[in-house]
Amino acid sequence: MRAFEATRRYFHTAAEHLDLSPQAREAMLMASREIRVQVSIERDDGSLATFVGFRVQHDNSRGPMKGGLRYHPEVNLDETRSLASLMTWKTAVVNLPYGGAKGGIGVDPRSLSTRELERLTRVFVDQIHDIVGPDTDIPAPDMGTDHRVMAWFRNQWEKYHGFNPAVITGKPVEEYGAKGREEATGRGVGTLTVKLTKRLGMKPEATSIAIQGFGNVGSHAAKFLSEAQFPVIAISDITGTYYRKEGLNIAAALHHKLQHPYGLLEGFKECDVLPTDALLTLPNVDILIPAALGGVITEKNAKKISARAIIEAANGPVDPDADKILHDHGVTILPDILANAGGVTVSYFEWVQNRQHYRWTLDRVRQELDRTLSEAFEHVWQNAHERDISLRTAAYMIGITRVRRATELAGLT
Ligand code: NAD
Repeated sequence: MRAFEATRRYFHTAAEHLDLSPQAREAMLMASREIRVQVSIERDDGSLATFVGFRVQHDNSRGPMKGGLRYHPEVNLDETRSLASLMTWKTAVVNLPYGGAKGGIGVDPRSLSTRELERLTRVFVDQIHDIVGPDTDIPAPDMGTDHRVMAWFRNQWEKYHGFNPAVITGKPVEEYGAKGREEATGRGVGTLTVKLTKRLGMKPEATSIAIQGFGNVGSHAAKFLSEAQFPVIAISDITGTYYRKEGLNIAAALHHKLQHPYGLLEGFKECDVLPTDALLTLPNVDILIPAALGGVITEKNAKKISARAIIEAANGPVDPDADKILHDHGVTILPDILANAGGVTVSYFEWVQNRQHYRWTLDRVRQELDRTLSEAFEHVWQNAHERDISLRTAAYMIGITRVRRATELAGLT
């Protein structure tokens, strides 16, 4: 299923409960602006390489638009459109004063040298600098991008518009970044997993966890959860699934990641190594955390999932057909628009600090993150239980209601 079709279906399920007219639905689903740009760079050997870049700005009724930049070979307009709309609902669910956007370049960043990656980022900024800015649209890291890419982006944008670090978040801490931004999405996933398991009456020591993807989000979630005494029995990346039924040594896995090219787990010992796609359907997993790509859980593998709950750390990992099968089997799904909102929440804190020229301590960032996510979780949980609907539908309803209210208050003309 195409990514935007999946998001549309989730939106319509919630829109039914809200009695939204077809006209209102159309207006809320359609992006404000979608752009596609050519990104051509000279490679280190002097040859020319051309890539396609996108920025989709979905909605700004609640504030400047906000959303990550993804560098991945499969980035396309449909996926970017889906991710931009997810950002609108996500910022609304956690009640940040933002709208939603997303962007990216169809490229495998590992196929480029560091200098090529920098040139690619600068050329992309040359193409889109006039439509992003601290009061219009604020990018952030996502798959395949990190604090270095954010620093290059800011530097190139400031060549056109002058000093304003609030144009992008996820910057290096010493370059106007926020303490705690890098860990934020994974930490948020961990915090919300603790809350959900408590509600489901599951004890940490007796709740096994499997995490797909050991990048920024997956690795920080694994660290948080293993420190909270959950046995993390499986982790995976593009090189394979690393499994130990008694629980993996996550500190050793994090150390291995730091020591190896591209942070890959290849060669990680003292566990069984299985094919990459084995992780999702491992037996005896209580909590499954997809933290890599979208669209990985479909009607084909949904019935084989043993977990009691799924925490959607990635964006869009469960498609609507699978969602229905899992729901019918009693699997609780914490939806992406809440589960991975820790990243955008701390991005918001970074933007606030940049605008105030003031730095928060790591403790303050963590406390405010915990408070923001806890409030959003309780709101979604309560709405779901009062109406006997899924957590996903409950979260979408809250997001859509807030966006609709802002649109109505602003007036249409
Ligand atoms: P990343 O590039 O840091 O890491 C991605 C990881 O997934 C890598 O370990 C990679 O090897 C692995 N991977 C890729 N394909 C895989 C496959 N088929 N099977 C198993 N592993 C695979 O990316 P990230 O920033 O950690 O983002 C992961 C997900 O979280 C994405 O869906 C992203 O949109 C979402 N997300 C990220 C943030 C953030 O702050 N970085 C915020 C919200 C949501």
